[in-house]
Amino acid sequence: MTRRIPIIRCSRCRRRLRKPGTASEDGWNAVLDMGIVTAVLCPDCQTPEEHAEAANNDATTEYVGMTVDGRMVGRAKTGEQ
Ligand SMILES: [Zn+2]
Repeated sequence: MTRRIPIIRCSRCRRRLRKPGTASEDGWNAVLDMGIVTAVLCPDCQTPEEHAEAANNDATTEYVGMTVDGRMVGRAKTGEQ
């Protein structure tokens, strides 16, 4: 039995993310709209503004999983329990 691993690609250049577990360390960023991931960008495709926003997202968003079509699913971190 083989397990299908979702493939994540850059939403702009279609470059493949080879190691999803290290995405944020490698500079890949998810673009969020109201807590929903709408795009994933490789380091080469991000504007400085997007890079700054992603740093903010890292502090406010928790990635909880991945959909069958390879999109990351995130939810907002809250300071409350
Ligand atoms: Zn790209």
